[in-house]
Amino acid sequence: MKYLQKCKDCRKYGLINSKSKCIYCGGTLINPFPPRYSPIDKYSKYRIIYFKEEFKKRFEES
Ligand SMILES: [Zn+2]
Repeated sequence: MKYLQKCKDCRKYGLINSKSKCIYCGGTLINPFPPRYSPIDKYSKYRIIYFKEEFKKRFEES
């Protein structure tokens, strides 16, 4: 799975990087997942599928 973060300023998605800065506008990248999200969660497999669907919807909307 790719680690995506969302720009707080221009709302574009970008790959996580060490500086947490948006490559488009230099804004701050934030975690688009809710705080409860944990990769070691035993249900994470299902949750990732859910988030993929959510990402698709958001990409289609914008
Ligand atoms: Zn940005």
